[in-house]
Amino acid sequence: MAQRKEPTFRESVDLMFNRAVSLMDLSPGLEEKIRVCNATYTVRFGVRLRGRIQTFTGYRSVHSEHMEPVKGGIRYAMAVHQDEVEALAALMTYKCALVEVPFGGSKGGLRIDPREWDEHELEQITRRFAYELIKRDLIHPAQNVPAPDMGTGEREMAWIADQYKRMATTDINYRACVTGKPVNGGGIQGRTEATGRGVQYALREFFRHPEDVAKAGLSGTLDGKRVVVQGLGNVGYHAAKFLQEEDGCKITAIIERDGALIGESGLDVEAVRGWIARHGGVDGYPDGKFIRDGSKVLEHQCDILVPAALEGVINLENAARITAPLIIEAANGPITAGADEILRQKGTVIIPDMYANAGGVTVSYFEWVKNLSHIRFGRIGRRQEEARHELIVKELERLNRGLGDAWEISPDFKQKYLRGAGELELVRSGLDDTMRTAYQSMREIWQGREDVADLRTAAYLVSIARVADSYRAMGL
Ligand code: NAD
Repeated sequence: MAQRKEPTFRESVDLMFNRAVSLMDLSPGLEEKIRVCNATYTVRFGVRLRGRIQTFTGYRSVHSEHMEPVKGGIRYAMAVHQDEVEALAALMTYKCALVEVPFGGSKGGLRIDPREWDEHELEQITRRFAYELIKRDLIHPAQNVPAPDMGTGEREMAWIADQYKRMATTDINYRACVTGKPVNGGGIQGRTEATGRGVQYALREFFRHPEDVAKAGLSGTLDGKRVVVQGLGNVGYHAAKFLQEEDGCKITAIIERDGALIGESGLDVEAVRGWIARHGGVDGYPDGKFIRDGSKVLEHQCDILVPAALEGVINLENAARITAPLIIEAANGPITAGADEILRQKGTVIIPDMYANAGGVTVSYFEWVKNLSHIRFGRIGRRQEEARHELIVKELERLNRGLGDAWEISPDFKQKYLRGAGELELVRSGLDDTMRTAYQSMREIWQGREDVADLRTAAYLVSIARVADSYRAMGL
């Protein structure tokens, strides 16, 4: 097995796509149209820093414009290259179609190690990169809307939004040019946590279906399940935190850049995150066993493995030794096509990336809608909802007095029922609904078709069919 050639990330995405289309009845022309990446723009730009001109290379790929704007994060990492950005852009097309957000697929990347530059320098670099993309409408509220990804966050998104505003001074919708902004800079509550929250909602939905849980050789609920997480960044941290605090999962190992921590009785996610912030890694954390070769810990016995760092970490070399019966791909592309085949043969259940980490783009969609409507969700209806609830509670209390105070409404119920939904509650409700509905569309195929043995193929079948329908509706 180890002699087999490992496909690149983009080849992996194409192989998985091809496996799905072989089960569909698409014309070869349409199949090709959907698969190929429409365009990739490469930019090399200089910024005067530390006494000399430093040159940076960045990319913005547009995979499919069957819907516009196209959407996809901007990644800051030294490993960024055209192949990777195109693979990620393709995944965005399928992801958006699967969770029914009305966007095409795009992705961007800048070859940079953000830890090597201070905040002021990063701002100059980000603004210059944004300038190059805005000039070509590769950042635009109606055409191309980036978001955070690995190595970027709300700070970078705020710089991008401001740069766009400076260049498009009369665009009233300028805030919708990028999502993942800080809440007080046109963002939406719940966006930062959204991808991790989506991972939690995906797992909750999976565990609502005992037949699906049984396919992974597991039983019961999330409570008490042993979870191994790779990458305690935005996605991994939020997913691990919510699973630990709200669903009773035990985080038995955390894998980071410098190594891994093992704690069979459960690591305290918040404390480990704090330790990383202070010390730059997990080494030295007092309440866990440190293992220098972190990637080995992907093979650790657990119920659920959550790779939430980077692509290709489960590959031909280690796939046969992965013991987790259930893997949820919180990162994009953590399992190569070759590894996917080995794991499928072993009966491992994989909740695929295009579904598992779609929480980010879902809440980005809500943020974009909020920016275009220029109003916070819940602002109009919330007090009206509360007033109607109050009417009911008062009426019940009046009736109760007529019965001689036979029963009492509990203060807890009253407090919860009287409270109208604010922006955060609405965002979470919309995200939960999206994750449930998308899972159901995949499982219908997974459980219903004999020729579909895994959730990834099912996910591709759902999304490719939707993209094909969009193209057909355009007359293609
Ligand atoms: P991030 O930069 O916030 O976090 C990445 C984490 O992984 C960091 O803690 C980093 O130290 C760790 N890491 C890096 N290399 C590692 C290695 N070799 N071994 C173990 N840990 C390592 O990035 P993020 O935004 O959390 O993104 C993580 C993944 O999730 C990426 O694949 C990204 O494309 C995907 N994703 C992110 C979002 C989002 O909203 N941020 C949305 C969808 C998908």
